[in-house]
Amino acid sequence: MATPPIAASARVIVLFGGSFDPPHIGHRRLAVAARDAIGADWLLVIPAGRSPHKGSSTLFDGEDRIDLVKCAFGGAKRVSVSRMEVDRMRNEPDRPSYTVETLHTLREHLPAGVRLRLLIGADQALSLHRWREPRAIMAIAEPLVMRRAGDDESAESLAARIASNWNDGTAGLGPADWHRRVVDVPLVDASSTEARRLLATSDEPGRDGRLRELLGDAVLQRVREIREGR
Ligand code: ATP
Repeated sequence: MATPPIAASARVIVLFGGSFDPPHIGHRRLAVAARDAIGADWLLVIPAGRSPHKGSSTLFDGEDRIDLVKCAFGGAKRVSVSRMEVDRMRNEPDRPSYTVETLHTLREHLPAGVRLRLLIGADQALSLHRWREPRAIMAIAEPLVMRRAGDDESAESLAARIASNWNDGTAGLGPADWHRRVVDVPLVDASSTEARRLLATSDEPGRDGRLRELLGDAVLQRVREIREGR
């Protein structure tokens, strides 16, 4: 695997995986804010090859999603975009990208003293217990959870709901532990689902304005170029 471009001095790295199909304004805003809120040194964004949690295909292919994510995070300092999952998909096209495998690979390539945190939204946090080898994931990279706009739920209540998925008495998985993992970042009302829905319609009132708001100018421009085959 090509070593991800991360400053050698980084001691705490926030890992941010997702389909990014396409990346929206919340991805950049929230991930940078989450990194800074916990005083981490670096943000590594990892577009998924094929998500095991989502359908078999994405609107944008792996290369385009890498391109769009680079565009979305363009100019941001202490951020890099990893090709590792998209490259793995190219070698094994029918295999989903499992987070636990990505984490093992990263752990092998990074110095032992580097601490990893796994940034996920509330929707993903609520299903983390069903991911492949969730305890191994937690052991390698402690989750860092973002509330999602629209859920209208306090951090405390979200933490209690997540903890109820793990209620086997294991230390570190109770409501207070999950509450500690909820990061204090703004709520951003944006989803890739909404962006894909708007991209699929042509005549909805306010569509162009909302798309610009959701994706930002640079990503929207790149999306249009990709769709026109440029
Ligand atoms: P989709 O609508 O296709 O499910 P998405 O908007 O959730 O996509 P992903 O690429 O799946 O985007 O998101 C990557 C990560 O960012 C996930 O952990 C997701 O929960 C989180 N995330 C995405 N959008 C938000 C948001 N607006 N607020 C908080 N977390 C978010």
